[in-house]
Order: sequence, then C-alpha cells, then structure tokens
Amino acid sequence: MASILTRPLLDARTEALRRLIGNTPLLAIHARFRGHRRIVYAKSEQVNLTGSIKDRMALYTLAQAYSAGEIAPGDTIAEATSGNTGISFAAIGRALGHPVKIFMPDWMSEERKNLIRSYGAEVVPVSREQGGFVGAIQMAEEFARSHREVFLPRQFSNRANVDAHAATTGPEIAAQLEECHLHPDAFVAGVGTGGTVMGVGAFLRSRFPRIRIHPVEPAESPTLSTGHKVGKHRIQGISDEFIPAIVRLEQLDAIVPVSDGDSILMAQKLAMQLGLGVGISSGCNFLAALVVQEQLGPKAVVVTVFPDDNKKYLSTDLLRDERVHDAYLSPEVELLGLSTMPRSCAFCPRDN
Ligand code: PMP
Repeated sequence: MASILTRPLLDARTEALRRLIGNTPLLAIHARFRGHRRIVYAKSEQVNLTGSIKDRMALYTLAQAYSAGEIAPGDTIAEATSGNTGISFAAIGRALGHPVKIFMPDWMSEERKNLIRSYGAEVVPVSREQGGFVGAIQMAEEFARSHREVFLPRQFSNRANVDAHAATTGPEIAAQLEECHLHPDAFVAGVGTGGTVMGVGAFLRSRFPRIRIHPVEPAESPTLSTGHKVGKHRIQGISDEFIPAIVRLEQLDAIVPVSDGDSILMAQKLAMQLGLGVGISSGCNFLAALVVQEQLGPKAVVVTVFPDDNKKYLSTDLLRDERVHDAYLSPEVELLGLSTMPRSCAFCPRDN
C-alpha cells in the first residue's frame, strides 16, 4: 500500500506525470488507396505513460478533482472500465498514493487485467450474468455508496473527460498542423466514452468552424446508430453497451461504421509495414479517416488518433490470421511511409 502523500509531494508527482503524458507526435501516414496518394494524420497516443490516450483523461480528471476538493489524499479511486482507463487510473492513481479498484467485464483480455494488477490496483471482474459493462458501472456506484472516502471518476458522464481533450489533444493537433501551414478538414475517432471525439471536436470546431467531426463505431455493433447494444465486435475500447452521457450526437457529423475484421487487418499492416505497434481501434480509426477523405477529396486533411499500443492484444485475434471479406478496405491500402509533424516546412509532406 502506497503511503498518503503530502500536498507538495502530490503536486510534484502530478507535474512529473504531466511531462510523461500528452504532447505526443502527430504522424503523417503516407498511403495509396484506390489508386490515389493519401496522407492521414494520426496522434501517436500509444507513446503515453501507460501506452494509451486514457492517461490524458485520468491525469486531468484527478488534477481537476483535487482543485475542486472532490478527492482527498488517500481516497480510493473506483471506476468501471473496459481496460485502458483502468490501466491509466491504476498507474496514475497509485503514483499519487491512492488505492485503486477497477470494475471490469470479465471477457476483456488477460493482458488488460494483469496490467492493472501490475500497478497494484484491484480488479473486480464482472460477468455477463452480473450485468456486463452496465453492471460494472452499477457496482462501482454501489461500492461508493457503501464505503467512505471513495472517488468515482465516472468517465462516461464526467465533463473532465471531454475537457481533457479540449485542453490538450485538440490544441496539440492544431499547433502541429499549423507548423506546416495546414488546417484540419475533418477529425474522426472511435467512440468509447466519447471523450476524445467530443473534446477534440469541440476545440477544433472553435478554431475551424467548417471542420467535420465524425464519430466511428464497429459495423457489427452499431450502438451509436441504434441507441442500444446490438451484436458483438472485437474492437476493444469502443462501442460499449450504451450511448454515454457526454456524447452529443447532434453536435457531430455522420457516424462512420468500420468492420472489426478490417480494423484488425489494418492494425496488423501498420505494425508489420510501418513499425507502428498499435491496437485494433487504431486500425479502425485509420480506415474511418480514409472513408471520410474519400468523401472530402484525396487532399483533405483528415486527422485521427491511434489510441493505444498492441501489447494488450497479444492473446487476441490481432495476432491471428484474419479472413478477408470482399467489402473490406484494408486490402486496398498500400502503406508507403511515415513522417512526424511538425517538420521543417521544407519537408512538409504536402510539398513532397
Ligand atoms: N480505443 C481504445 C483502445 C480505448 O481504450 C478507448 C477508450 N475507451 C477508445 C478507443 C475511445 O476513446 P474515448 O473513450 O475517448 O471515446
């Protein structure tokens, strides 16, 4: 058990963590798709402290809660999550001296559960019979009701989740593009809690009013389009079983569906051909970016995120042969190269 930190030590730890989270590279991925040269821009979120974009939300939420007096040193952090959020709160919560308890559907990959445990947090597995994801949220709430000194981040309804991306991810994207005199035409992101698409979307739209902001969901499980849980899919981290409270579909453009098998094939390609060891939702986001670019024109500046790395998926279909279907897009993608932004303008990808 970590000891309770004094305020100066807490502030120093928070500052150190801040330097390990965010300010990620913006990748320019060069590809040929259906005969046209393309560039897709992707934030390389797998380089964050614990390997995912969720570090941003966890650190921001805890810092916010401390300034609002909603959390005290030594309080237990309890959260329901399908994985990355749990890993982020485990690492960051423990670093700030908190016990951490994660309620998690029991069908999530072993790597995810073990990673959370490796930071010294407790995993409470929740079966389908116990209510699955929704059951996990209810159990976390119940835990907070029956125990004192518990902080619930409530990532699905907490405004701090959106603000984390409006304050960090969005401004970073704008600044990195601007260094090469580029403006984004669209931002696309798979929706888990929706923090990324809503927060980045809000910031970029405030700067570029004509930008398109597209949420992405698995074609096999169109929760956003139908409003409730339908079917099954393999893109861990997106499309949980309901539309989160922080998601405001009326503020967004059309939902982009992407198949889970296609996402797996694309993530495999990114790793095998460009050395980008990313998760399945990164493959999904990359394909969604190409779909939107197809509508806006091959020169459109379409930005997305690679939310996490591939290490949590080593026991999943990401490491197996995936069957190719006729409608899949990934077989039509030829990856040509990679650069990071910003670069000296003499080398801007657009000028090559
Ligand atoms: N991909 C992965 C791998 C994730 O863990 C998450 C977070 N649940 C997302 C995408 C979606 O991010 P957000 O919760 O901000 O919508």
